[in-house]
Amino acid sequence: MLLCDFHIHTRYSDGSIELRRTIDLFGQAGFDVIAITDHVVNGKTTYGKMANRFRFSVQESHFPDYLLHIQEEAKRAWDRYGMLVLPGVEITKSSLSSRQSAHVLLIDLKTFISAEWEFEKIFLEAKKQDALIIACHPHHSSELMAIDTLYLWTHREKYAPFIDAWEIANRDDVFNVISLKKYPYIAGSDFHRARHLYSWKTMLNCEKEIKAIKKCIRYNRGVAITLFRNGTPW
Ligand code: ZN
Ligand code: ZN
Repeated sequence: MLLCDFHIHTRYSDGSIELRRTIDLFGQAGFDVIAITDHVVNGKTTYGKMANRFRFSVQESHFPDYLLHIQEEAKRAWDRYGMLVLPGVEITKSSLSSRQSAHVLLIDLKTFISAEWEFEKIFLEAKKQDALIIACHPHHSSELMAIDTLYLWTHREKYAPFIDAWEIANRDDVFNVISLKKYPYIAGSDFHRARHLYSWKTMLNCEKEIKAIKKCIRYNRGVAITLFRNGTPW
């Protein structure tokens, strides 16, 4: 099975490690597939304005450079480690209210999608680009300082049809509500610093190829989660 992590931040947003070193960390740890998913924040909120000011967000004007750099690193990762690297973002709609907040990973994205748009527009545009749509940390998390992101879960009847998979586990947290609802699932590290390498991951029973990976996640067959520790998945 392919060892995968679909939720990784670099210094393009609020990760502490730059892209190239992040690639090497995962490559050396034996990963088969990873997605780089730096934040794209809603710049209209107070949080978003701060994030943009401190460069904790990929902005539209930098997006082509961001994609190009991931593309270059993806080629190096494939040649050196046989690891597939996918370009993505984390659409970050954060507010002071957890009920109004939601984060969504868009993976295999080709052109910029703004976090200022309504969810329906974001999902439709992502579908047009055939990007994977993943609802992340969708329920109460154990992180003390974090504001929970409950909007999509609260409105799941409306939005579930758009969502390819939900994060059933994020870093050290497990969200059992996803399995109770029998929603499609994956797990990811929400990698921001080196120690986050050791966290929940996804394993996929499919070819190491983008079309097969998307199909495997969307059909949600041959998907497993594993708690990756000390460099080995078991
Ligand atoms: Zn997030
Ligand atoms: Zn994240």
